[in-house]
Amino acid sequence: MREVPSEVIVRTVERLFVEANTQIGDDVSCAMESALRGEESPVGRAVLEQILENYRIAAGEEIPICQDTGMAVLFLELGQEVHITGGLLEEAVNEGVRRAYVGGCLRKSVVADPLFERKNTGDNTPAVIHLKLVPGDRIKITAVPKGFGSENMSAVKMLKPSDGVEGLEAFVTETVLKAGPNACPPVVVGVGIGGTLEQAALLSKQAVARGVGTENPSPPYAALERRLLERANRLGLGPGGTGGTVTALAVNVLFAPTHIAGLPVAVNICCHAARHREAVI
Ligand code: SF4
Repeated sequence: MREVPSEVIVRTVERLFVEANTQIGDDVSCAMESALRGEESPVGRAVLEQILENYRIAAGEEIPICQDTGMAVLFLELGQEVHITGGLLEEAVNEGVRRAYVGGCLRKSVVADPLFERKNTGDNTPAVIHLKLVPGDRIKITAVPKGFGSENMSAVKMLKPSDGVEGLEAFVTETVLKAGPNACPPVVVGVGIGGTLEQAALLSKQAVARGVGTENPSPPYAALERRLLERANRLGLGPGGTGGTVTALAVNVLFAPTHIAGLPVAVNICCHAARHREAVI
């Protein structure tokens, strides 16, 4: 059994959220540079130039890429041969989020009661933690701060198997269209297919966190990703919703086995501040 002090988890989570919020990943900035070269609309190109400049200023001055520094979503892969010492995993993660958002002067955007009181918790906790047990003695942490301009435009639908590929493609495309400028395009679209309702939603979020420039290893699903990206970019929303040929930087699909009677599909939209950072302890 490998022992990992909980304080190491606290410090790692703190670092990941500060970095994710201030430094855009190379995957997204490269895709944005390439979007700038391909965008046909002059206004769209001007928007992309501003987005790229914003990335540079944020990294140079260590300030957030966007005022909405998101809800703290984490994917944890915990090796079964790890023993966490000195505290509980969930508490360590929340302490890391607290330190990142309070110490790093990141906006606190979480309300404790979603319906009635809506009082801010003051430190951006609790985090949304997705934990998976895996073989080995490592802990992989992926931090995904998620802004709600784009989260609010996400959708899930229980399609019928007879809706098939065309029904699925139409639903994804329609969701991107409905998101419009509210999702701060160019967007990254995560699509989760299969499982149950909640598994499809989780897969769609994991698909966003997979990053730009990756491809589903299954050839038919990789082809589906390419077709969905093409359809999204034919919508004409363009950067910032000002019109243009680049509405999405990527469409990432993940899938899971499902019931014979169903075809669940979830679409998680992520804005141009597509932030994610990971570390292995
Ligand atoms: S959707 Fe993204 S870019 Fe737009 S305000 Fe929210 S976090 Fe910022």
